[in-house]
Amino acid sequence: MTRLRTQIPGPRSLDLAARRKGAVAAGVGSTLPVYVERAEDGLLVDVDGNRLIDLASGIAVTGVGNPAPRVAAAVHEQIDRFSHTCFMVTPYEGYVEVCERLNALTPGTHEKRSVLFNSGAEAVENAVKIARHATGRTSVVVFDHAYHGRTNLTMALTAKNMPYKQGFGPFAPEVYRAPMSYPYRDGLTGPEAAARAIDVIEKQVGVPACVLIEPIQGEGGFIEPAPGFLAALADWCRERGALLVADEIQTGFCRTGAWFAAEHQDVVPDLVTTAKGIAGGLPLAAVTGRAEVMDAVHSGGLGGTYGGNPIACAAALGAIDTMAELDLNAAARRIEATVLPRLRAAVGRHGDVRGRGAMLAVEFADRTPEVAARVAGACHAAGVVVLTCGTHGNVIRLLPPLVIPDGVLDEGVAVLEQAIVEGVGR
Ligand SMILES: *Cc1c(COP(=O)(O)O)cnc(C)c1O
Repeated sequence: MTRLRTQIPGPRSLDLAARRKGAVAAGVGSTLPVYVERAEDGLLVDVDGNRLIDLASGIAVTGVGNPAPRVAAAVHEQIDRFSHTCFMVTPYEGYVEVCERLNALTPGTHEKRSVLFNSGAEAVENAVKIARHATGRTSVVVFDHAYHGRTNLTMALTAKNMPYKQGFGPFAPEVYRAPMSYPYRDGLTGPEAAARAIDVIEKQVGVPACVLIEPIQGEGGFIEPAPGFLAALADWCRERGALLVADEIQTGFCRTGAWFAAEHQDVVPDLVTTAKGIAGGLPLAAVTGRAEVMDAVHSGGLGGTYGGNPIACAAALGAIDTMAELDLNAAARRIEATVLPRLRAAVGRHGDVRGRGAMLAVEFADRTPEVAARVAGACHAAGVVVLTCGTHGNVIRLLPPLVIPDGVLDEGVAVLEQAIVEGVGR
């Protein structure tokens, strides 16, 4: 509590909230409406001087730290030389180098190509465009609880109605939803759950252009499919000639203790979408995939004014260097090892504690948002930034910066433990 000077949110944040009401569209929400002035060492410092413990990283974005020294230096260096040319007008080296890194880091040793965009949704849209173009088919298979973005096509790909879809239709066609492997709720093995999904796909779709899946679901509740689920889907895709697209936008870049979460199930996707953690907070996203699939698209068929902006590319190179240098995969695994047992002890039989690396969650047994909202509210009041997720809103998720100091993490988790014990009424 010594980190807090006022109630949360404090008076200056409340003033800004009032100003915001008259200026910012009401449709944009904020989980914890403290207005941030700066960030440091796993903390967000707000305009009232409160220092909040960051267990969210701006939704899995600032894993390398906020600010991250190498990212900041790279951005300064780049913006002093040039800020933009548009890669489609006159190209520059940074874009090429980011693509080379992505091709080397994503799963599989096959020949790859990459293309850069601004947001995760844009990357997913383009992965679908590429898959359609390369296969000559149109249908896309997605899963229960999936989250792929908020644009028209990605809204259709996203499962949850409120708040993402309600009133925003009509949605893009040729999207089919299959049942996900959900070990805590369905009790199926990976191969059993895959057989169930494949049965739906074969009966309702035939062979799609692509099967699009988050290797560990993010907004949908940090659901990791049972072992063998992804491999069985990958086998089916390969046999039928459908492309397997892994949406690694939340799971990528060391978040789960590996460069990409598909590695945990030994799966090599045909296409991978990335964003969030890629560039230390600068807007950048990518599609990386098999050279023959990516290069099937005609010249000029992919792009965008800002896609692979030079400043965002410089930031990505700084961020990726930081991940390698500080071995943030190992850091993520250390976070898992210290936090998971503590949460399991706090939750007991009242829910499921799961996750990998620094992507950890508590799902409360009751399929209503009340307990999770209570627990998150208690954390927020105590100055700890946590997020909720899940189709039923009954999941607390942790996405701490991978560089969070041990003491700060310990303090944040202690607040969460207490909030859980009180929230489930033990
Ligand atoms: C956040 C997210 C997206 C959308 O990314 P934006 O940058 O918000 O458009 C897509 N897929 C997954 C898995 C995500 O977590």
